[in-house]
Amino acid sequence: MYRTKTCGQLRISDVGQQVILAGWVQRTRKMGGMTFVDLRDRYGITQLVFNEESDKALCDEANKLGREFVIQVEGAVNERYNKNPKMPTGDIEIIVSRLTVLNASLTPPFTIEENSDGGDELRMKYRYLDLRRSNVRANLELRHKFCLAVRHFLDSKGFLEIETPVLVGSTPEGARDFIVPSRMNPGQFYALPQSPQTLKQLLMVAGMDRYFQIVKCFRDEDLRADRQPEFTQIDCEMSFVEQDDIICTFEEMTKYLFKEVRGYDLGDEPFLRMPWIEAMTRFGSDKPDMRFGMEFVELMDVLKGTGEFAVFNDAAYIGGICAKGCAVYTRKQIDELTNFVKSPQIGAKGLVYARVAEDGSVKSSVDKFYTPEVLSNLAKKMQAEAGDLILIISGDDAMRARKQLCELRLLMGERLGLRDKNKFALLWVVDFPMFEWSDEEQRLMAMHHPFTAPKPCDVPKLDSDPASVLADAYDMVCNGVEVGGGSIRIHDAVLQAKIFEVLGFTPEKAQEQFGFLMNAFKYGAPPHGGLAYGLDRFVSLFAGLDSIRDCIAFPKNNSGRDVMLDAPSAVDQAQLDELQLALAPKA
Ligand code: ASP
Repeated sequence: MYRTKTCGQLRISDVGQQVILAGWVQRTRKMGGMTFVDLRDRYGITQLVFNEESDKALCDEANKLGREFVIQVEGAVNERYNKNPKMPTGDIEIIVSRLTVLNASLTPPFTIEENSDGGDELRMKYRYLDLRRSNVRANLELRHKFCLAVRHFLDSKGFLEIETPVLVGSTPEGARDFIVPSRMNPGQFYALPQSPQTLKQLLMVAGMDRYFQIVKCFRDEDLRADRQPEFTQIDCEMSFVEQDDIICTFEEMTKYLFKEVRGYDLGDEPFLRMPWIEAMTRFGSDKPDMRFGMEFVELMDVLKGTGEFAVFNDAAYIGGICAKGCAVYTRKQIDELTNFVKSPQIGAKGLVYARVAEDGSVKSSVDKFYTPEVLSNLAKKMQAEAGDLILIISGDDAMRARKQLCELRLLMGERLGLRDKNKFALLWVVDFPMFEWSDEEQRLMAMHHPFTAPKPCDVPKLDSDPASVLADAYDMVCNGVEVGGGSIRIHDAVLQAKIFEVLGFTPEKAQEQFGFLMNAFKYGAPPHGGLAYGLDRFVSLFAGLDSIRDCIAFPKNNSGRDVMLDAPSAVDQAQLDELQLALAPKA
Protein backbone atom coordinates (compact mmCIF):
# COMPACT_ATOMS: atom_id res chain seq x y z
CA MET A 1 0.00 0.00 0.00
CA TYR A 2 1.43 3.37 -0.97
CA ARG A 3 -0.59 5.11 1.68
CA THR A 4 -3.11 4.40 4.41
CA LYS A 5 -4.33 8.00 4.70
CA THR A 6 -4.27 11.16 2.62
CA CYS A 7 -2.55 14.39 3.59
CA GLY A 8 -5.86 16.07 4.36
CA GLN A 9 -7.40 13.39 6.51
CA LEU A 10 -5.82 13.16 9.94
CA ARG A 11 -7.29 14.88 12.99
CA ILE A 12 -6.68 15.00 16.74
CA SER A 13 -8.81 11.87 17.16
CA ASP A 14 -6.23 9.93 15.12
CA VAL A 15 -3.39 10.62 17.56
CA GLY A 16 -1.40 7.45 18.29
CA GLN A 17 -2.21 5.79 14.96
CA GLN A 18 0.56 4.43 12.76
CA VAL A 19 0.06 5.72 9.21
CA ILE A 20 1.65 5.77 5.76
CA LEU A 21 1.34 8.98 3.70
CA ALA A 22 2.55 9.85 0.21
CA GLY A 23 2.75 13.19 -1.55
CA TRP A 24 4.86 16.15 -2.60
CA VAL A 25 7.24 18.18 -0.46
CA GLN A 26 5.70 21.63 -0.20
CA ARG A 27 8.54 22.98 1.91
CA THR A 28 11.05 22.00 4.57
CA ARG A 29 12.20 23.97 7.63
CA LYS A 30 15.12 23.17 9.84
CA MET A 31 14.82 24.38 13.42
CA GLY A 32 17.57 23.30 15.76
CA GLY A 33 17.66 19.53 15.76
CA MET A 34 14.25 19.21 14.16
CA THR A 35 13.28 19.17 10.50
CA PHE A 36 9.69 19.92 9.52
CA VAL A 37 8.32 18.97 6.13
CA ASP A 38 4.93 20.05 4.78
CA LEU A 39 3.65 17.09 2.76
CA ARG A 40 1.00 17.90 0.19
CA ASP A 41 -1.45 15.92 -1.91
CA ARG A 42 -4.79 16.80 -3.50
CA TYR A 43 -6.53 16.55 -0.17
CA GLY A 44 -4.39 18.81 1.98
CA ILE A 45 -1.11 19.31 3.79
CA THR A 46 0.22 17.39 6.76
CA GLN A 47 3.27 18.35 8.80
CA LEU A 48 5.99 15.74 9.11
CA VAL A 49 8.60 15.86 11.88
CA PHE A 50 12.10 14.42 11.82
CA ASN A 51 14.11 14.53 15.03
CA GLU A 52 17.90 14.48 14.85
CA GLU A 53 18.14 13.19 18.39
CA SER A 54 16.01 10.12 17.85
CA ASP A 55 17.23 9.21 14.34
CA LYS A 56 20.12 11.22 12.93
CA ALA A 57 20.39 9.27 9.65
CA LEU A 58 16.69 9.70 8.88
CA CYS A 59 16.85 13.41 9.68
CA ASP A 60 19.83 13.79 7.34
CA GLU A 61 17.78 12.17 4.60
CA ALA A 62 14.94 14.61 5.27
CA ASN A 63 17.33 17.56 5.05
CA LYS A 64 18.21 16.51 1.50
CA LEU A 65 14.60 16.71 0.29
CA GLY A 66 13.94 19.39 -2.26
CA ARG A 67 10.69 21.13 -3.16
CA GLU A 68 8.25 18.90 -5.05
CA PHE A 69 10.10 15.66 -4.31
CA VAL A 70 7.59 12.81 -4.21
CA ILE A 71 7.98 10.86 -0.98
CA GLN A 72 6.36 8.19 1.10
CA VAL A 73 6.60 8.24 4.89
CA GLU A 74 5.54 6.02 7.72
CA GLY A 75 5.08 7.33 11.23
CA ALA A 76 2.89 7.96 14.23
CA VAL A 77 0.25 10.65 14.50
CA ASN A 78 1.19 13.03 17.28
CA GLU A 79 -0.62 15.98 18.89
CA ARG A 80 1.07 19.20 17.87
CA TYR A 81 2.52 21.50 20.46
CA ASN A 82 2.07 24.58 18.26
CA LYS A 83 -1.33 24.01 16.71
CA ASN A 84 -2.26 25.75 13.45
CA PRO A 85 -5.98 26.57 13.47
CA LYS A 86 -5.82 27.66 9.80
CA MET A 87 -5.14 24.12 8.60
CA PRO A 88 -7.68 21.27 8.87
CA THR A 89 -4.78 19.01 9.89
CA GLY A 90 -3.24 21.74 12.05
CA ASP A 91 -3.73 19.89 15.36
CA ILE A 92 -1.48 16.97 14.45
CA GLU A 93 1.86 16.06 12.94
CA ILE A 94 3.56 12.81 11.94
CA ILE A 95 6.65 11.65 13.80
CA VAL A 96 8.33 9.93 10.87
CA SER A 97 10.04 6.57 11.30
CA ARG A 98 10.58 5.69 7.62
CA LEU A 99 11.16 7.86 4.55
CA THR A 100 11.24 6.70 0.92
CA VAL A 101 11.94 9.07 -1.94
CA LEU A 102 9.61 7.90 -4.72
CA ASN A 103 10.84 10.48 -7.19
CA ALA A 104 13.14 13.48 -7.06
CA SER A 105 12.14 16.79 -8.66
CA LEU A 106 13.92 19.59 -10.43
CA THR A 107 13.38 22.90 -8.68
CA PRO A 108 10.06 24.12 -10.07
CA PRO A 109 10.21 27.34 -12.11
CA PHE A 110 7.76 29.08 -9.76
CA THR A 111 6.48 28.58 -6.25
CA ILE A 112 3.63 26.14 -5.83
CA GLU A 113 1.73 28.39 -3.45
CA GLU A 114 -1.66 30.03 -3.58
CA ASN A 115 0.03 33.29 -4.60
CA SER A 116 2.69 32.02 -6.96
CA ASP A 117 5.60 34.13 -8.16
CA GLY A 118 5.20 32.71 -11.69
CA GLY A 119 3.83 34.89 -14.49
CA ASP A 120 0.92 33.74 -16.66
CA GLU A 121 2.93 32.42 -19.58
CA LEU A 122 5.34 30.47 -17.35
CA ARG A 123 2.55 28.92 -15.33
CA MET A 124 0.77 27.89 -18.55
CA LYS A 125 3.94 26.31 -19.91
CA TYR A 126 4.17 24.23 -16.75
CA ARG A 127 0.45 23.92 -16.23
CA TYR A 128 0.87 20.50 -14.52
CA LEU A 129 2.78 22.32 -11.78
CA ASP A 130 0.35 25.23 -11.73
CA LEU A 131 -2.50 22.75 -11.21
CA ARG A 132 -0.80 21.58 -8.01
CA ARG A 133 -1.63 24.96 -6.44
CA SER A 134 -4.56 24.55 -4.11
CA ASN A 135 -6.61 27.45 -5.48
CA VAL A 136 -6.33 26.24 -9.09
CA ARG A 137 -7.16 22.70 -8.01
CA ALA A 138 -10.17 24.01 -6.08
CA ASN A 139 -11.54 25.47 -9.32
CA LEU A 140 -11.41 22.07 -10.99
CA GLU A 141 -13.07 20.48 -7.98
CA LEU A 142 -15.82 23.07 -8.19
CA ARG A 143 -16.24 22.39 -11.90
CA HIS A 144 -16.56 18.67 -11.20
CA LYS A 145 -19.23 19.26 -8.56
CA PHE A 146 -21.04 21.62 -10.89
CA CYS A 147 -21.17 19.03 -13.69
CA LEU A 148 -22.40 16.33 -11.31
CA ALA A 149 -25.17 18.62 -10.06
CA VAL A 150 -26.19 19.50 -13.64
CA ARG A 151 -26.39 15.81 -14.56
CA HIS A 152 -28.31 15.01 -11.41
CA PHE A 153 -30.86 17.77 -11.98
CA LEU A 154 -31.41 17.15 -15.68
CA ASP A 155 -31.66 13.39 -15.18
CA SER A 156 -34.33 13.99 -12.54
CA LYS A 157 -36.29 15.95 -15.17
CA GLY A 158 -36.07 13.18 -17.76
CA PHE A 159 -33.30 14.63 -19.94
CA LEU A 160 -31.12 12.12 -21.82
CA GLU A 161 -27.42 12.82 -22.19
CA ILE A 162 -26.62 12.07 -25.81
CA GLU A 163 -23.26 12.54 -27.51
CA THR A 164 -23.07 14.22 -30.89
CA PRO A 165 -20.10 13.99 -33.25
CA VAL A 166 -17.10 16.30 -33.23
CA LEU A 167 -16.37 15.88 -36.91
CA VAL A 168 -19.33 17.57 -38.58
CA GLY A 169 -20.19 20.08 -41.27
CA SER A 170 -20.52 23.78 -40.64
CA THR A 171 -22.88 24.74 -37.77
CA PRO A 172 -23.20 28.53 -37.88
CA GLU A 173 -23.14 30.32 -34.54
CA GLY A 174 -21.62 33.51 -35.81
CA ALA A 175 -17.93 32.60 -35.69
CA ARG A 176 -15.44 31.06 -38.08
CA ASP A 177 -15.21 27.27 -38.20
CA PHE A 178 -12.17 25.24 -37.34
CA ILE A 179 -11.83 22.84 -40.22
CA VAL A 180 -10.25 19.39 -40.43
CA PRO A 181 -9.09 17.88 -43.73
CA SER A 182 -10.37 14.41 -44.58
CA ARG A 183 -7.69 12.00 -45.82
CA MET A 184 -10.29 9.59 -47.15
CA ASN A 185 -12.10 12.34 -49.01
CA PRO A 186 -9.32 14.42 -50.50
CA GLY A 187 -10.13 18.09 -50.95
CA GLN A 188 -12.99 17.86 -48.43
CA PHE A 189 -13.14 19.08 -44.89
CA TYR A 190 -15.03 18.50 -41.70
CA ALA A 191 -15.83 21.45 -39.47
CA LEU A 192 -15.65 21.22 -35.69
CA PRO A 193 -19.04 22.13 -34.20
CA GLN A 194 -19.50 25.72 -33.04
CA SER A 195 -22.29 24.07 -31.05
CA PRO A 196 -24.39 20.93 -31.56
CA GLN A 197 -27.31 23.20 -32.55
CA THR A 198 -28.60 21.42 -35.64
CA LEU A 199 -27.84 17.98 -34.23
CA LYS A 200 -29.84 18.57 -31.08
CA GLN A 201 -32.72 19.78 -33.22
CA LEU A 202 -32.47 16.56 -35.24
CA LEU A 203 -32.61 14.64 -31.94
CA MET A 204 -35.94 16.37 -31.30
CA VAL A 205 -37.14 15.32 -34.76
CA ALA A 206 -35.99 11.83 -33.71
CA GLY A 207 -38.36 11.95 -30.75
CA MET A 208 -35.75 12.12 -27.95
CA ASP A 209 -37.95 14.75 -26.29
CA ARG A 210 -35.42 16.04 -23.76
CA TYR A 211 -31.70 16.14 -24.54
CA PHE A 212 -28.64 17.51 -22.85
CA GLN A 213 -24.92 17.21 -23.29
CA ILE A 214 -21.90 18.67 -21.55
CA VAL A 215 -20.03 19.26 -24.74
CA LYS A 216 -16.99 20.91 -26.29
CA CYS A 217 -17.69 23.62 -28.85
CA PHE A 218 -15.14 25.20 -31.16
CA ARG A 219 -15.18 28.75 -32.49
CA ASP A 220 -12.37 30.43 -34.32
CA GLU A 221 -12.74 33.98 -33.13
CA ASP A 222 -10.59 36.67 -31.60
CA LEU A 223 -9.95 35.85 -27.98
CA ARG A 224 -10.74 37.84 -24.87
CA ALA A 225 -10.49 37.04 -21.19
CA ASP A 226 -13.77 35.16 -21.21
CA ARG A 227 -13.30 33.35 -24.52
CA GLN A 228 -11.43 30.24 -25.55
CA PRO A 229 -11.28 28.65 -29.02
CA GLU A 230 -12.66 25.50 -27.43
CA PHE A 231 -15.06 25.80 -24.57
CA THR A 232 -17.73 23.71 -22.91
CA GLN A 233 -21.47 24.12 -23.08
CA ILE A 234 -24.29 22.55 -21.14
CA ASP A 235 -26.39 22.12 -24.24
CA CYS A 236 -30.11 21.39 -23.83
CA GLU A 237 -33.18 20.94 -26.01
CA MET A 238 -36.82 20.09 -25.28
CA SER A 239 -39.83 19.19 -27.43
CA PHE A 240 -43.43 20.36 -27.12
CA VAL A 241 -42.51 23.45 -25.15
CA GLU A 242 -42.99 27.18 -25.24
CA GLN A 243 -40.53 29.82 -24.10
CA ASP A 244 -42.06 29.83 -20.63
CA ASP A 245 -41.53 26.09 -20.13
CA ILE A 246 -37.86 26.39 -20.97
CA ILE A 247 -37.33 29.46 -18.83
CA CYS A 248 -39.04 27.81 -15.85
CA THR A 249 -37.09 24.53 -16.18
CA PHE A 250 -33.73 26.23 -16.36
CA GLU A 251 -34.50 28.80 -13.74
CA GLU A 252 -35.17 25.89 -11.41
CA MET A 253 -31.89 24.28 -12.45
CA THR A 254 -30.01 27.52 -11.83
CA LYS A 255 -31.48 27.91 -8.36
CA TYR A 256 -30.58 24.29 -7.64
CA LEU A 257 -26.98 24.77 -8.82
CA PHE A 258 -26.55 27.93 -6.78
CA LYS A 259 -27.82 26.21 -3.68
CA GLU A 260 -26.07 22.84 -4.12
CA VAL A 261 -22.76 23.95 -5.53
CA ARG A 262 -22.32 27.53 -4.35
CA GLY A 263 -24.35 27.46 -1.12
CA TYR A 264 -26.23 30.56 -2.28
CA ASP A 265 -29.98 30.88 -2.01
CA LEU A 266 -31.52 32.78 -4.91
CA GLY A 267 -34.91 32.78 -3.18
CA ASP A 268 -38.33 31.69 -4.42
CA GLU A 269 -39.13 34.71 -6.58
CA PRO A 270 -38.91 34.14 -10.33
CA PHE A 271 -36.01 35.92 -12.05
CA LEU A 272 -36.68 39.27 -13.59
CA ARG A 273 -37.51 39.14 -17.31
CA MET A 274 -36.48 42.21 -19.22
CA PRO A 275 -37.14 42.86 -22.91
CA TRP A 276 -33.97 43.45 -24.90
CA ILE A 277 -34.96 46.99 -25.87
CA GLU A 278 -35.50 47.89 -22.22
CA ALA A 279 -32.11 46.47 -21.24
CA MET A 280 -30.46 48.49 -23.98
CA THR A 281 -32.30 51.68 -22.99
CA ARG A 282 -31.83 51.43 -19.24
CA PHE A 283 -28.34 49.92 -19.15
CA GLY A 284 -26.90 50.08 -22.68
CA SER A 285 -26.32 46.34 -22.64
CA ASP A 286 -28.10 43.09 -23.44
CA LYS A 287 -26.42 41.68 -20.35
CA PRO A 288 -26.96 44.29 -17.67
CA ASP A 289 -25.24 43.93 -14.33
CA MET A 290 -28.19 44.20 -11.96
CA ARG A 291 -26.19 44.12 -8.74
CA PHE A 292 -26.50 47.89 -8.75
CA GLY A 293 -28.68 50.65 -10.15
CA MET A 294 -27.04 53.70 -11.72
CA GLU A 295 -29.57 53.46 -14.53
CA PHE A 296 -29.30 55.63 -17.62
CA VAL A 297 -31.37 58.78 -17.71
CA GLU A 298 -32.08 60.12 -21.17
CA LEU A 299 -31.33 63.83 -21.27
CA MET A 300 -32.33 64.87 -24.78
CA ASP A 301 -35.22 67.03 -23.53
CA VAL A 302 -33.04 68.73 -20.91
CA LEU A 303 -29.85 69.36 -22.85
CA LYS A 304 -30.57 69.32 -26.59
CA GLY A 305 -31.43 72.75 -27.92
CA THR A 306 -31.51 74.34 -24.47
CA GLY A 307 -28.04 75.90 -24.73
CA GLU A 308 -25.23 76.64 -27.12
CA PHE A 309 -23.36 73.34 -26.77
CA ALA A 310 -23.16 72.17 -30.39
CA VAL A 311 -22.17 68.58 -29.50
CA PHE A 312 -25.44 68.08 -27.63
CA ASN A 313 -27.47 70.04 -30.12
CA ASP A 314 -26.34 67.68 -32.90
CA ALA A 315 -26.66 64.48 -30.85
CA ALA A 316 -29.05 61.63 -31.53
CA TYR A 317 -28.67 60.52 -27.93
CA ILE A 318 -27.66 62.18 -24.67
CA GLY A 319 -27.64 60.02 -21.57
CA GLY A 320 -26.36 60.32 -18.05
CA ILE A 321 -25.61 58.28 -14.96
CA CYS A 322 -25.46 59.55 -11.42
CA ALA A 323 -22.50 58.45 -9.30
CA LYS A 324 -23.49 58.84 -5.66
CA GLY A 325 -21.07 60.82 -3.53
CA CYS A 326 -18.55 61.28 -6.35
CA ALA A 327 -18.73 65.09 -6.59
CA VAL A 328 -15.47 65.06 -4.63
CA TYR A 329 -13.69 63.55 -7.64
CA THR A 330 -10.63 65.62 -8.50
CA ARG A 331 -9.88 67.01 -11.92
CA LYS A 332 -7.36 64.19 -12.35
CA GLN A 333 -9.92 61.51 -11.54
CA ILE A 334 -12.37 63.03 -14.03
CA ASP A 335 -9.61 63.14 -16.64
CA GLU A 336 -9.04 59.44 -16.03
CA LEU A 337 -12.71 58.75 -16.70
CA THR A 338 -12.58 60.89 -19.83
CA ASN A 339 -9.54 59.02 -21.10
CA PHE A 340 -11.29 55.76 -20.35
CA VAL A 341 -14.37 56.58 -22.45
CA LYS A 342 -12.20 58.03 -25.21
CA SER A 343 -9.94 54.95 -25.37
CA PRO A 344 -10.08 53.10 -28.70
CA GLN A 345 -11.98 50.12 -27.21
CA ILE A 346 -14.79 52.42 -26.09
CA GLY A 347 -14.56 55.17 -28.64
CA ALA A 348 -16.65 57.98 -27.10
CA LYS A 349 -15.86 61.51 -28.31
CA GLY A 350 -15.79 62.91 -24.79
CA LEU A 351 -17.33 63.04 -21.36
CA VAL A 352 -19.39 65.85 -19.83
CA TYR A 353 -19.75 66.01 -16.07
CA ALA A 354 -21.69 67.99 -13.52
CA ARG A 355 -21.15 68.12 -9.78
CA VAL A 356 -23.92 68.86 -7.33
CA ALA A 357 -22.43 70.99 -4.54
CA GLU A 358 -23.48 70.87 -0.89
CA ASP A 359 -25.69 73.94 -1.40
CA GLY A 360 -27.44 72.18 -4.30
CA SER A 361 -25.85 74.33 -6.99
CA VAL A 362 -24.62 72.53 -10.10
CA LYS A 363 -21.17 73.05 -11.61
CA SER A 364 -20.51 71.42 -14.93
CA SER A 365 -17.85 71.19 -17.61
CA VAL A 366 -20.29 72.85 -20.03
CA ASP A 367 -21.38 75.67 -17.67
CA LYS A 368 -20.74 78.37 -20.19
CA PHE A 369 -23.29 76.97 -22.62
CA TYR A 370 -26.20 76.58 -20.22
CA THR A 371 -28.15 78.74 -17.80
CA PRO A 372 -28.15 77.72 -14.10
CA GLU A 373 -31.79 76.84 -14.60
CA VAL A 374 -31.00 74.23 -17.26
CA LEU A 375 -28.29 72.77 -15.04
CA SER A 376 -30.68 72.60 -12.15
CA ASN A 377 -33.20 70.82 -14.41
CA LEU A 378 -30.43 68.40 -15.26
CA ALA A 379 -29.81 67.59 -11.59
CA LYS A 380 -33.54 67.20 -11.03
CA LYS A 381 -33.98 64.86 -14.00
CA MET A 382 -31.02 62.80 -12.82
CA GLN A 383 -32.42 62.77 -9.27
CA ALA A 384 -28.94 63.86 -8.21
CA GLU A 385 -28.41 65.08 -4.68
CA ALA A 386 -25.74 67.15 -2.98
CA GLY A 387 -22.39 65.38 -3.36
CA ASP A 388 -23.33 63.45 -6.51
CA LEU A 389 -21.48 63.43 -9.80
CA ILE A 390 -23.40 63.31 -13.07
CA LEU A 391 -21.58 61.76 -16.03
CA ILE A 392 -22.95 62.33 -19.53
CA ILE A 393 -22.22 60.74 -22.88
CA SER A 394 -23.75 61.71 -26.19
CA GLY A 395 -23.43 60.57 -29.77
CA ASP A 396 -24.95 60.54 -33.20
CA ASP A 397 -25.60 56.80 -33.03
CA ALA A 398 -27.86 56.15 -30.04
CA MET A 399 -27.02 52.46 -29.60
CA ARG A 400 -23.31 53.12 -29.79
CA ALA A 401 -23.52 55.96 -27.26
CA ARG A 402 -25.50 53.74 -24.90
CA LYS A 403 -22.89 51.00 -25.12
CA GLN A 404 -20.22 53.56 -24.26
CA LEU A 405 -22.21 54.79 -21.29
CA CYS A 406 -22.61 51.15 -20.23
CA GLU A 407 -18.84 50.75 -19.99
CA LEU A 408 -18.65 53.87 -17.85
CA ARG A 409 -21.46 52.62 -15.63
CA LEU A 410 -19.62 49.34 -15.08
CA LEU A 411 -16.41 51.16 -14.26
CA MET A 412 -18.17 53.44 -11.76
CA GLY A 413 -19.93 50.42 -10.26
CA GLU A 414 -16.52 48.83 -9.78
CA ARG A 415 -15.07 52.01 -8.28
CA LEU A 416 -17.97 52.35 -5.86
CA GLY A 417 -17.65 48.72 -4.77
CA LEU A 418 -21.08 47.84 -6.10
CA ARG A 419 -19.96 44.74 -8.01
CA ASP A 420 -19.45 42.37 -5.11
CA LYS A 421 -18.34 38.94 -6.38
CA ASN A 422 -20.21 37.22 -3.58
CA LYS A 423 -23.56 38.65 -4.62
CA PHE A 424 -25.52 37.37 -7.57
CA ALA A 425 -28.17 39.17 -9.60
CA LEU A 426 -29.85 37.05 -12.28
CA LEU A 427 -32.31 37.93 -14.97
CA TRP A 428 -33.61 36.79 -18.33
CA VAL A 429 -33.27 39.15 -21.24
CA VAL A 430 -36.10 38.33 -23.65
CA ASP A 431 -37.63 39.54 -26.93
CA PHE A 432 -34.38 39.92 -28.84
CA PRO A 433 -34.48 41.27 -32.36
CA MET A 434 -34.39 38.45 -34.89
CA PHE A 435 -31.75 40.15 -37.05
CA GLU A 436 -28.99 42.70 -36.79
CA TRP A 437 -27.37 44.62 -39.59
CA SER A 438 -23.74 43.79 -40.33
CA ASP A 439 -21.72 46.63 -41.81
CA GLU A 440 -18.97 44.19 -42.64
CA GLU A 441 -21.19 41.77 -44.56
CA GLN A 442 -23.65 44.43 -45.73
CA ARG A 443 -26.60 42.21 -44.89
CA LEU A 444 -28.88 41.20 -42.06
CA MET A 445 -27.42 38.54 -39.80
CA ALA A 446 -29.23 36.31 -37.31
CA MET A 447 -28.80 37.87 -33.89
CA HIS A 448 -29.00 34.47 -32.19
CA HIS A 449 -28.69 31.88 -34.97
CA PRO A 450 -30.67 31.17 -38.12
CA PHE A 451 -32.77 28.41 -36.51
CA THR A 452 -34.41 30.76 -34.01
CA ALA A 453 -38.16 31.24 -34.43
CA PRO A 454 -39.52 34.72 -35.02
CA LYS A 455 -42.39 35.74 -32.76
CA PRO A 456 -45.47 34.33 -34.55
CA CYS A 457 -47.12 37.77 -34.66
CA ASP A 458 -44.04 39.20 -36.44
CA VAL A 459 -43.88 36.59 -39.21
CA PRO A 460 -45.86 38.79 -41.64
CA LYS A 461 -43.17 41.48 -41.28
CA LEU A 462 -40.39 39.19 -42.56
CA ASP A 463 -40.84 40.65 -46.03
CA SER A 464 -41.92 44.19 -45.31
CA ASP A 465 -39.74 45.14 -42.33
CA PRO A 466 -37.43 42.31 -41.29
CA ALA A 467 -35.30 44.59 -39.09
CA SER A 468 -38.25 45.05 -36.73
CA VAL A 469 -39.01 41.34 -36.29
CA LEU A 470 -38.56 40.04 -32.75
CA ALA A 471 -37.49 36.51 -31.91
CA ASP A 472 -38.57 34.02 -29.27
CA ALA A 473 -35.03 34.15 -27.90
CA TYR A 474 -33.77 34.59 -24.37
CA ASP A 475 -30.48 34.94 -22.51
CA MET A 476 -29.81 34.23 -18.88
CA VAL A 477 -27.60 36.92 -17.41
CA CYS A 478 -25.75 36.83 -14.11
CA ASN A 479 -23.78 39.81 -12.81
CA GLY A 480 -23.39 41.30 -16.26
CA VAL A 481 -22.28 38.03 -17.83
CA GLU A 482 -24.33 36.08 -20.35
CA VAL A 483 -24.27 32.62 -18.79
CA GLY A 484 -26.72 31.02 -21.17
CA GLY A 485 -28.96 31.64 -24.12
CA GLY A 486 -31.40 29.94 -26.39
CA SER A 487 -34.60 30.16 -28.32
CA ILE A 488 -37.70 28.49 -29.59
CA ARG A 489 -36.76 26.98 -32.94
CA ILE A 490 -38.34 27.00 -36.31
CA HIS A 491 -39.80 23.53 -36.98
CA ASP A 492 -41.39 24.28 -40.30
CA ALA A 493 -39.37 23.81 -43.49
CA VAL A 494 -41.11 26.66 -45.30
CA LEU A 495 -40.50 29.22 -42.55
CA GLN A 496 -36.89 28.02 -42.22
CA ALA A 497 -36.38 28.54 -45.95
CA LYS A 498 -37.88 32.03 -45.61
CA ILE A 499 -35.40 32.95 -42.87
CA PHE A 500 -32.50 31.78 -45.00
CA GLU A 501 -33.84 33.97 -47.79
CA VAL A 502 -33.95 37.03 -45.49
CA LEU A 503 -30.38 36.21 -44.45
CA GLY A 504 -29.33 36.42 -48.08
CA PHE A 505 -28.97 32.72 -48.93
CA THR A 506 -30.05 31.62 -52.39
CA PRO A 507 -32.40 28.60 -52.23
CA GLU A 508 -29.58 26.46 -53.70
CA LYS A 509 -27.04 27.61 -51.12
CA ALA A 510 -29.54 27.09 -48.26
CA GLN A 511 -30.30 23.60 -49.57
CA GLU A 512 -26.61 22.79 -49.93
CA GLN A 513 -25.74 23.90 -46.42
CA PHE A 514 -28.89 23.12 -44.45
CA GLY A 515 -30.85 20.76 -46.67
CA PHE A 516 -30.44 18.00 -44.08
CA LEU A 517 -32.33 20.09 -41.52
CA MET A 518 -35.05 21.43 -43.80
CA ASN A 519 -35.66 17.94 -45.16
CA ALA A 520 -35.87 16.53 -41.63
CA PHE A 521 -38.52 19.14 -40.83
CA LYS A 522 -40.65 17.57 -43.56
CA TYR A 523 -40.89 14.32 -41.57
CA GLY A 524 -42.90 15.47 -38.58
CA ALA A 525 -40.68 17.80 -36.59
CA PRO A 526 -42.18 18.60 -33.18
CA PRO A 527 -42.28 22.17 -31.88
CA HIS A 528 -39.09 22.51 -29.87
CA GLY A 529 -36.68 24.89 -28.23
CA GLY A 530 -33.73 24.94 -25.93
CA LEU A 531 -30.71 26.74 -24.70
CA ALA A 532 -27.06 26.32 -23.85
CA TYR A 533 -25.06 27.48 -20.89
CA GLY A 534 -21.40 28.35 -21.05
CA LEU A 535 -20.04 25.97 -18.44
CA ASP A 536 -16.67 27.67 -18.11
CA ARG A 537 -18.27 31.07 -17.51
CA PHE A 538 -20.77 29.72 -15.05
CA VAL A 539 -18.10 27.94 -13.02
CA SER A 540 -15.81 30.98 -13.06
CA LEU A 541 -18.68 33.11 -11.74
CA PHE A 542 -19.18 30.62 -8.91
CA ALA A 543 -15.45 30.68 -8.20
CA GLY A 544 -15.25 34.48 -8.41
CA LEU A 545 -12.64 34.32 -11.18
CA ASP A 546 -11.87 37.09 -13.66
CA SER A 547 -10.98 34.72 -16.47
CA ILE A 548 -12.56 31.44 -17.56
CA ARG A 549 -9.04 30.11 -18.07
CA ASP A 550 -8.63 29.48 -14.38
CA CYS A 551 -11.34 26.84 -14.33
CA ILE A 552 -10.06 25.00 -17.41
CA ALA A 553 -7.37 22.38 -16.85
CA PHE A 554 -5.41 23.10 -20.01
CA PRO A 555 -6.50 26.43 -21.50
CA LYS A 556 -5.15 28.27 -24.52
CA ASN A 557 -3.54 31.67 -24.26
CA ASN A 558 -4.72 34.90 -25.90
CA SER A 559 -3.28 33.91 -29.26
CA GLY A 560 -5.07 30.59 -29.15
CA ARG A 561 -1.87 28.71 -28.32
CA ASP A 562 -1.36 25.85 -25.94
CA VAL A 563 2.08 26.90 -24.73
CA MET A 564 2.60 23.65 -22.86
CA LEU A 565 2.01 21.43 -25.90
CA ASP A 566 3.33 24.09 -28.25
CA ALA A 567 0.24 23.80 -30.41
CA PRO A 568 -0.67 24.68 -33.08
CA SER A 569 2.50 23.65 -34.89
CA ALA A 570 3.75 22.75 -38.35
CA VAL A 571 3.22 19.18 -39.58
CA ASP A 572 5.46 16.94 -41.67
CA GLN A 573 5.37 17.27 -45.44
CA ALA A 574 4.36 13.59 -45.57
CA GLN A 575 1.28 14.34 -43.53
CA LEU A 576 0.35 17.20 -45.85
CA ASP A 577 0.94 15.02 -48.90
CA GLU A 578 -1.32 12.33 -47.54
CA LEU A 579 -4.06 14.91 -47.12
CA GLN A 580 -3.29 16.33 -50.56
CA LEU A 581 -2.73 19.75 -49.02
CA ALA A 582 -0.19 22.30 -50.19
CA LEU A 583 0.74 25.38 -48.19
CA ALA A 584 0.65 28.71 -49.97
CA PRO A 585 4.11 30.28 -50.16
CA LYS A 586 4.72 32.74 -47.32
CA ALA A 587 3.68 36.23 -48.38
N1 ASP B 1 -26.60 26.83 -29.88
C1 ASP B 1 -26.80 28.05 -29.15
C2 ASP B 1 -25.46 28.66 -28.75
O1 ASP B 1 -24.45 28.00 -28.80
C3 ASP B 1 -27.62 27.88 -27.93
C4 ASP B 1 -29.02 27.50 -28.24
O2 ASP B 1 -29.70 28.21 -28.98
O3 ASP B 1 -29.46 26.48 -27.70
O4 ASP B 1 -25.42 29.79 -28.34
